[in-house]
Amino acid sequence: MEKLINPVVTAGILRKYDFHFQKRYGQNFLIDEHVLNKIISASEITKDDFVLEIGPGIGTMTQFLCEAAGKVLAVEIDEKLIPVLEDTLSEYDNVQVINNDVLKLDLNKIADEYNDGKKIKVVANLPYYITTPIIMGLFEAHLPLESITVMIQKEVADRMQAGPGTKDYGALSLAVQFYSEPEIVATVPPNCFMPRPGVSSEVIRLKTLESCPVDVQDEAFMFKVIRAAFNQRRKTLVNALGNASNINVSKDQVKDALGQMGLDERIRGEALELGEFAKLSNLLK
Ligand code: SAM
Repeated sequence: MEKLINPVVTAGILRKYDFHFQKRYGQNFLIDEHVLNKIISASEITKDDFVLEIGPGIGTMTQFLCEAAGKVLAVEIDEKLIPVLEDTLSEYDNVQVINNDVLKLDLNKIADEYNDGKKIKVVANLPYYITTPIIMGLFEAHLPLESITVMIQKEVADRMQAGPGTKDYGALSLAVQFYSEPEIVATVPPNCFMPRPGVSSEVIRLKTLESCPVDVQDEAFMFKVIRAAFNQRRKTLVNALGNASNINVSKDQVKDALGQMGLDERIRGEALELGEFAKLSNLLK
């Protein structure tokens, strides 16, 4: 079968199955081979690799992943795409498709079941409406992840790489820094997709870190502190953390901890870097 990355082939498959794009699922299919090759080469897949693809669509990227990887597991929410994928991936015997919502799956169980808990690579052209929960979910599940190479909205890529004091800086930036080393692989204009999205996109590779970059006693507690700090980002840390119902610290305890760190008690969360959040959460704990 000719590859789906050719827009004429994609249009033919959409006609054959009378497929109508579902906006609510963020369906924008890739039709640019140059971009697809960049994603595949940035993900550094070999025949030893197990790849998890989130949202295969009609199988455009999946066809390339099957050729590069040892095994591919693709999770697609839209049941209308399952018969299409059976057709477009029929040549490959190293792929399995699961019809489910990726946010509802126990990915650790899947990594155990399908790959004996060994390292996996995630590669995807993500549905933009749930990029952040997918990325946070992958990190927080503590999957045996080697890397995540994904196409995302440019604004989200900017947030992932932002530093203290900028408007884009937030819980997502800190999670990305805590778990990985980010690198932008390509900037992708809307005309590389069918249908065209209303935004520009970027391919980002997040290589997971081998060891923790900061000294933190309780990672889950630190992320509660971070989330509370950015939930009310215009408030001082003392007020934002003192008012947060799920971390159980008083304003005086926050003032005291900031004092021990040599920080002004009027400081806002957006001014703290990752190492400072780690130290603050250790003190509050
Ligand atoms: N990989 C294909 C490509 O590059 O042409 C399609 C990418 S499209 C941007 C996103 C895909 O994710 C769609 O096929 C959509 O149906 C699927 N999707 C959306 N939400 C999902 C979810 N919660 N779980 C799994 N797949 C989802």
